[in-house]
Amino acid sequence: MTTPFSNPLPIPVLGFCAYSGTGKTTLLTQLIPELTRRGVRLAVIKHAHHTFDVDTPGKDSYEMRKAGARQMLVASHVRWALMTEDEVDGDPSLPHLLAQIEADKVDMVLVEGFKKLALPKIELHRAAHGKPFIHTDDNNIMAVACCDDTVLPDGIRRLDLNNVAQIADFVQEFAANWQPAPLQLPLSASQIPSPQGSRSVREGLDHILATITPLSEQQQCQLDELDNRILAQDAISPVNVPQQTNSAMDGYAVAMSVQCSHYQVVGEVLAGHGYQGQLSAGQAVRIMTGAPLPDGADAVQPREHAEEKDGQVCFSKPMKAGQNIRMAGEDIAKGATALQQGCRLGAAELGLLASLGMDNATVKRKPVVAVFSTGDEVSQPGQPLSDNCIFDSNRYTIKSMARRMGCDVLDLGIIADDEAALEQALLDASEKADMIISSGGVSVGNADFIKTVLARIGKINFWRINMRPGRPLAFGEIGKALFFGLPGNPVAVMVSFIQFVQPALRKLAGEADWQAQLIPAVTDMPLRSRTGRTEFLRGIYHIGTDGQLHVRTTGAQGSGMLTSMSKSNCLIVIGEEADQVPANSRVYIQPFADLL
Ligand code: AMP
Ligand code: MG
Repeated sequence: MTTPFSNPLPIPVLGFCAYSGTGKTTLLTQLIPELTRRGVRLAVIKHAHHTFDVDTPGKDSYEMRKAGARQMLVASHVRWALMTEDEVDGDPSLPHLLAQIEADKVDMVLVEGFKKLALPKIELHRAAHGKPFIHTDDNNIMAVACCDDTVLPDGIRRLDLNNVAQIADFVQEFAANWQPAPLQLPLSASQIPSPQGSRSVREGLDHILATITPLSEQQQCQLDELDNRILAQDAISPVNVPQQTNSAMDGYAVAMSVQCSHYQVVGEVLAGHGYQGQLSAGQAVRIMTGAPLPDGADAVQPREHAEEKDGQVCFSKPMKAGQNIRMAGEDIAKGATALQQGCRLGAAELGLLASLGMDNATVKRKPVVAVFSTGDEVSQPGQPLSDNCIFDSNRYTIKSMARRMGCDVLDLGIIADDEAALEQALLDASEKADMIISSGGVSVGNADFIKTVLARIGKINFWRINMRPGRPLAFGEIGKALFFGLPGNPVAVMVSFIQFVQPALRKLAGEADWQAQLIPAVTDMPLRSRTGRTEFLRGIYHIGTDGQLHVRTTGAQGSGMLTSMSKSNCLIVIGEEADQVPANSRVYIQPFADLL
């Protein structure tokens, strides 16, 4: 049996395993020079089973470490060494160690030890030692290096333990055929089956999206009312953009088919004006950015490369036909689709519609979202807080996110612990709203009255989602309205909104082709997760000194701590496959972008 392992490096890693005394180190000290001679740049990681030290008492580095330096880096012009005090229970983490290797300096990593990890390995076997095989219990063994008298089962690659060149051939063949593991995006379909009664984030989302039909009602709105609305019909351009071929620079328009040493300046054309007449060879027109190009002109020479004197202009730089000219229709041709239906209109899109001369467009009706809170302990901000109570924050985070999604919000307040009142409020809301969102009282095993009422008046699923935070989730329908019962904890509410309500609202609103943006980043710190659960940590992304996108967490990650949301600019999404994520390895982040 082996322990799962994933290689964080973009280069192959090959292990050598054997019982002690088989001659691993002897082989490696012969194999390393052979591979090096063949031009393979190697890194080697060795597992030492005992406490070891590479330093000697009396050396400065030794004394500084003894004085308390947790990391000691000693460097000269020929090599450097980093010593780290890192006491762990059990074996050191190989992915963490591999992350220390500079993958641009070597072609592959050979690993001695770490026999139990599921990494590709060569087994070394000496029959004379009378030890059992390793490959019988480990399907990561790529080949067995043994002596002539050893009997191996069919189908396993045999290498000669005493033939270093042959083993080196195999190592090179392995490296040549090696491919990095395919990117396992979090939120994509997982290989891990969900435990009974629970579902993955992806399964939950797929079910939700399959239930939703986009709103069909359309309305025509003026340009100023279109921000954050969803276009209901393709916007077809009635004009060419730009309308006329024009100059991209302040300078001189010339007919450059005949190149001259100097040109006669025959006129000037400003933006918003035209040049009457045809430019002939040897003539130039002074032209401003955006002004229509005179007939016959086919290049614009910028002013900074021109010298004008006594009605003549000469140029210090050669010209190419078409330079600094914007062709009519080069951005959008007349009759082309400028914006597709389903597109969410923002600043650029409003500008684009305006540039086509359109002062209105047909958009989808805004979804109406009703929001309420439940729970004996939940109190209205602004009112005195009774003993053992908390202020209602969830209604405000939910309303804010719903508005940013372009929805109209109906605030139903805090609904008292009264079944009849709740039932009436929900039935009323289902007449007026497209979606009803509540928070609290939906966890499995929670005896809240809201579950009783929902079960009576709606078709609601109560799920356990394999995620943290935000495990409980209720989703279904009340009358013709969709219903989301979010968890109670404030961070869980926001994370569940981002993962489930956001895509649902976008589909309901008619937005086409939306997908959560997941971006790879390097984690500055080790992150903990659990196989089979998607973890959403609150992160702060930033550009590291290496120029790459890095991320760190906001610190304590309690699901009630709204400060963690407020400090963060993204979620760090750790998929179901992952367990430990070592520092410096790649993770995915989901920026909040315009949602929070
Ligand atoms: P529940 O799922 O109802 O057991 O709630 C889980 C946690 O979320 C409890 O600590 C609640 O007090 C808290 N909670 C529930 N509703 C709200 C709310 N509207 N605002 C802030 N916290 C809430
Ligand atoms: Mg509650």
